[in-house]
Amino acid sequence: LMAVEVEGLEKIYQGTGGRRGKQALKGVNLAIPRGSIFGLLGPNGAGKSTLINILAGLVRKSGGHARVWGVDVDRDPRAARAVLGVVPQELTLDPYFPARAALEVQAGLFGIPKAARRTDELLEILGLADKATAPARSLSGGMRRRLMVGKALVHNPPVLVLDEPTAGVDVTLRQQLWDYVRLLNRNGTTILLTTHYLQEAEALCDRIAILADGQVVANDTTAALLRGL
Ligand code: ADP
Ligand code: ADP
Repeated sequence: LMAVEVEGLEKIYQGTGGRRGKQALKGVNLAIPRGSIFGLLGPNGAGKSTLINILAGLVRKSGGHARVWGVDVDRDPRAARAVLGVVPQELTLDPYFPARAALEVQAGLFGIPKAARRTDELLEILGLADKATAPARSLSGGMRRRLMVGKALVHNPPVLVLDEPTAGVDVTLRQQLWDYVRLLNRNGTTILLTTHYLQEAEALCDRIAILADGQVVANDTTAALLRGL
């Protein structure tokens, strides 16, 4: 069974304000097995963000099909959002908002009733239990990243997307985040991560697909892919 299935996916951005139109995805096929850590690797402009934005319902595809946990993202966007958590590249935290409150607000956005929220459990898993009332601006870089992951997990999605999780992050923090991603995966979450570091994909991923100029140019187990390089 697949966590994510993408078939013949196309995206054409219309040109605006004198800018030329751009075909960002040119018939992408991908199948991401449930339970895996899957790396989407590729240089800037390859189409990685476009692909995950389509899965997240933020960008409308121009052609093809995309399913998350069996749900068609176009036909049933609400259901698709329920099975997907996305950690964006940029930290989007209100600096004055306490950690627990940030998770509560996110749970509210998903319509999760107060009694059914797992905010404290999540803070525990994230190693932020003692920071529940601390405002985001008082947290370290790693803690902020983990809080972002927490926001993506409040509705308990089976699939978590991490967009360039360690971009601009130092070596120590990168190791911590990698350990953390492995832990989430061991606890049953399928992970799709985008990166332009081969080393990161190599360290974390069971399978790697390489995207270049809107097309999948390689898709294999990490071991097989590295043998071929
Ligand atoms: P990546 O995430 O791999 O860096 P993107 O998906 O951001 O790649 O971009 C793929 C291509 O689509 C790039 O050429 C980019 O400039 C273009 N693109 C991305 N977003 C838009 C947009 N909103 N309008 C027009 N072109 C875009
Ligand atoms: P990323 O590669 O992480 O998506 P970019 O710098 O390519 O970052 O894009 C930043 C923002 O600008 C995104 O929202 C993207 O959709 C938009 N964008 C990128 N390229 C274009 C483009 N050619 N025309 C219009 N918007 C674009």
